[in-house]
Amino acid sequence: MKYLLSFLLVFALTISYSISQIRVEPMFWWTGMKNPELQLLCYAPKIAESEVLLKYDGVNIDQIIKTSNPNYLFINLKIEPNAKPGSFAINFVKAKKTVFSYNYELKARNEKRKPAKIDQSDALYLLMPDRFANGDTANDNISTLLDKYNRTDPYGRHGGDLKGITDHIDYFKDLGVSTLWINPVLENNMPQASYHGYAITDFYKIDERFGSNADYVKMIENLHQNGLKVVMDMVANHCGSYHWWMKDLPMANWVNDSAKYGMCNFRASTLLDPYASKFDYDKNNRGWFVPSMPDFNQENPLVAKYLIQNAIWWIEYSNIDGIRMDTQPYAEKNFMAAWAAAIEVEYPNYFIVGEAWLNKPSFVSYFMKSAKNWDGYSSNYGHVFDFPLHFALKDGLNEGSSWDKGLVRLYDILCEDYLYTNAFDLVTFPDNHDTQRFFSMINEDYGRFQQGMVFSFTTRGIPMIYYGTELLMTSDNAKGDGDKRKDFPGGWAGDQTNMFTAAGRTGKIADAYNLIQTLLKWRKENPVVQYGKLKHWVPNDNVYVYARYDEKKTVLVIMNNNEKDQVLQYERFSEILSNFKSAYDVLGQKNLSDLKNIAVKAKTAIILELK
Ligand code: CA
Repeated sequence: MKYLLSFLLVFALTISYSISQIRVEPMFWWTGMKNPELQLLCYAPKIAESEVLLKYDGVNIDQIIKTSNPNYLFINLKIEPNAKPGSFAINFVKAKKTVFSYNYELKARNEKRKPAKIDQSDALYLLMPDRFANGDTANDNISTLLDKYNRTDPYGRHGGDLKGITDHIDYFKDLGVSTLWINPVLENNMPQASYHGYAITDFYKIDERFGSNADYVKMIENLHQNGLKVVMDMVANHCGSYHWWMKDLPMANWVNDSAKYGMCNFRASTLLDPYASKFDYDKNNRGWFVPSMPDFNQENPLVAKYLIQNAIWWIEYSNIDGIRMDTQPYAEKNFMAAWAAAIEVEYPNYFIVGEAWLNKPSFVSYFMKSAKNWDGYSSNYGHVFDFPLHFALKDGLNEGSSWDKGLVRLYDILCEDYLYTNAFDLVTFPDNHDTQRFFSMINEDYGRFQQGMVFSFTTRGIPMIYYGTELLMTSDNAKGDGDKRKDFPGGWAGDQTNMFTAAGRTGKIADAYNLIQTLLKWRKENPVVQYGKLKHWVPNDNVYVYARYDEKKTVLVIMNNNEKDQVLQYERFSEILSNFKSAYDVLGQKNLSDLKNIAVKAKTAIILELK
């Protein structure tokens, strides 16, 4: 009896110890993946001293990898095509005793679920979940999470969450966007300024202030049922300094040594510069983004595998339709290409857009897949953001006309489209969560705003807008990043105005919303503006004219950023205009019978459907 009791006691201790002390990532996986390999990161006290035992048909241990830290074991599994969905115990045995045990599940893939296609027919809407809407005040503070609710602090947590997004599905649909790009939602258990989500402290967990993993899946299902797609914001360059492994790294070179490389020099040009010094290249690649974000060493194959599997896990688990990769050129470039290639294997033609924040097309084009690069590099990224056009739009609208200034900037940047694998796959945007608010960039001039929006939704590429741009939100450079990410008015109970409703939008804000809504709805119905060819004319006197055309339709866009009304010189545009007799003015909602004297008011853009 005494023996039995002590046996039970030991047994009970072992079980509770095992369950609470072992961490295995990915927590579960799937059968039927194209790549049969799976690498498990196992973390528990002195786990490397144990032997790994598992028995499951179609699952074999390929390799056990130990590191300098005995608290980690990496298990390479091979999952054969005949492996059936189910669970099996992975036992960690020391001196014939199971010291840890983990019940590993291989789930069945949902064959009916296929990522939706995202292309030029789409329009993206970027939102920051902490700042969009607070759908559940019960999760505003979580006892285990350090950064507490403080809506008065621009860098504090404001309480927005996944439910706040789901609550406003009708708003997205009414506005006319097709796809949400949601800023990072994984746990950021940092002591301060954690609201933006880029300092991840657990790569497999939704931040509880936003909701649970199950809530995330439910939100995506809900958005899909409403015809909306989702792009997940991912970060493969760094983690947060409060990530659980920072207290006990798997090995010294898991992250790059900040004592040696210091901070990043933010010179992504070093990746494509034929004359780059090793010092500068390393500093871009291995320097830390900020002191609170340790820089991953993706040249360590264990780190690379961890990040690649993590991305695939989220696609398979949550059915997201695309990925926006943060800081694309600051991660090791061959890793980045391997990461995108691994996703392509499982999900052909998957939408991946990289944040290659550079100011020249010759720089940005390097980061698009199959670019004709001098060193043969291909990023395997189908899409990158069009930063050069973003800068040109801002400067072009703010300037008077000269040889190389004003709207000529838009023309000049588009002339360089030949550098891109496919410029129509660029994601265009007037502003984002890191820039000044577009309305502030253009000195709160509504005429410039109107032209900027018309341009954004009618030039080539996949357009993206940032939440609040449709509400003429402003930002003050002196107030820092928090001010670019103000709360959506009406997203919080008790807000004085509710701009989710038409009644809450008045004056110029109503004009801006209605303009964008009109443009989005018209664009959706006009494939010519999505996929059609582009022809443009060199701007004169700050008047920029371009056509989008296909076999069925021709649309002429005229931006007049001149202080005076203008009439087009028919002869210059007759190669297009001579094929038509009249036009429909989309924004003015009127017919135009005289194409020889097309007039455009000062500081205005018009869209003409040629008939
Ligand atoms: Ca909340």
